[in-house]
Amino acid sequence: MTVSLVSARWIVTGVADRHTPVIHSDAALAHENGRVIAVGPAAQMRADYPGATETRYPQHMMLPGFVNSHHHVGMTPLQLGSPDYALELWFASRLSARDIDPYLDTLYSAFEMLASGVTTVQHIHGWMRGPYSHVHGTASAVLNAYRDIGMRASYCFAVREQNRFVYEADEDFCARLPPDVGAAMAAHLKAQAMPFADFMQLFDDLVAENRSELTRMQLAPANLHWVSDDGLLAMKEKADTAGVPMHMHLLETAMQKAYAKRRTGTTAVKHLHKLGLLGPKLTLGHGVWLTEEDIELAAHTGTCICHNCSSNFRLRSGLLPLMEYEKRGITVGMGLDEAGLNDDRDMLQELRLALNVHRVPGLDDDEVPSCPQVLRMATEHGAKTTAFGAEIGRLDAGRYFDAVVIDFDRAMYPYQDDDIPPLDALIQRAKTQHVAAVMVGGELVCENGRFTRIDRDETLEKLAQALSKPRTDAENHRRWLRREVFPQVKNFYRHYLDEEPAREPFYGNSSRR
Ligand SMILES: [Zn+2]
Repeated sequence: MTVSLVSARWIVTGVADRHTPVIHSDAALAHENGRVIAVGPAAQMRADYPGATETRYPQHMMLPGFVNSHHHVGMTPLQLGSPDYALELWFASRLSARDIDPYLDTLYSAFEMLASGVTTVQHIHGWMRGPYSHVHGTASAVLNAYRDIGMRASYCFAVREQNRFVYEADEDFCARLPPDVGAAMAAHLKAQAMPFADFMQLFDDLVAENRSELTRMQLAPANLHWVSDDGLLAMKEKADTAGVPMHMHLLETAMQKAYAKRRTGTTAVKHLHKLGLLGPKLTLGHGVWLTEEDIELAAHTGTCICHNCSSNFRLRSGLLPLMEYEKRGITVGMGLDEAGLNDDRDMLQELRLALNVHRVPGLDDDEVPSCPQVLRMATEHGAKTTAFGAEIGRLDAGRYFDAVVIDFDRAMYPYQDDDIPPLDALIQRAKTQHVAAVMVGGELVCENGRFTRIDRDETLEKLAQALSKPRTDAENHRRWLRREVFPQVKNFYRHYLDEEPAREPFYGNSSRR
């Protein structure tokens, strides 16, 4: 390969601190073999690399590609028949989701992510029916889809050993149901059960089979209620041996906080600490319901958090106290989870959402998120929560050249006062239609909304054709099962929080008196 240049009006290589982006004006970036070699003044770079081909973006800002640090599926739960219930009820509603080709399904959301500037996704796969061959085949289809479209994926399969439907043993929940429904539910849950050793085998097999610069593997205990303490310890040992990070859903809802107290007699975070799981290689997905002491412990151990803002609103989970994490220097990534507020994967909108929902009443700038801060969450901090770590997330020499180029002039037309710092203006105004180019490993994979490797219209038509067919018997059976068990799930949780003390919110955005 030879060196190539990309020049732009501004190149943002990263964020120094929450008030200071690192911006090079009238700059060029040199890259070779998929990695950044240097960034500097355009004139200087042209002199340093004479004869290098140059792609020019004269009215644009180039930023590190975004990292969606928490993602599961292609077509959204809403599209597949699950409304935005509270998380615990929503799980039950997911029973009736139709079977979709995993390759096409993965492409569906990859189109949305890439179009909004996401170059790396943390794909937390799972909730599949066994046997192992089916799980392995589905995982491989997901990974192939990302590689084919040219997107970087940090992949994990969510390990679930127990309590697969509500926060109690499967057999106890099934015993609450009328006998025919209970038997059908037991059979459904048994089909998802896989021996613990198979989950570890899946990791080993996928590592061996997916050696690619675009793909990395990591491990994922799905959530505290889904994994035994023995399972958590075994996974921690496996992760340490393999040198990979772990991503674990934790404290997404108040019910999960209450579950942890019942199971462990303490908080979920203190329990994980006792087991030795906390540290910079563990990311807590959601992390909405940490106590002040839990947050101190996360800060002290260097544990990462992933903020899934849209999802937490949609599924009535609560609001993570972002600024409590920020002021303690905790690494916080950003995840779109199932989908954002518009039921799609629009990272630019998610940045704006995270920027605005934590704007508590007051006058001090340090009490609320800044534009560089949310950009760092969606780039460098998100990167740290994936298996790529410091290989991505900034446009510094040595890192992969993953970038998003946004047409600044079009996004600001007809006027933007230059007293507003350009990055702040961009984060507050740019939309997906202003994304001019997305590069992964130096390759142009999306240009003005068009994908260079895979035809979007053709792919979506295949999905439309497949889903226009009538439901299969198995799909109809699961739909019946959902209808039957849903009221029982609601009953199960009706008094789950009755013993909990009154809440003392971190933020207070309104007042009764
Ligand atoms: Zn999730």
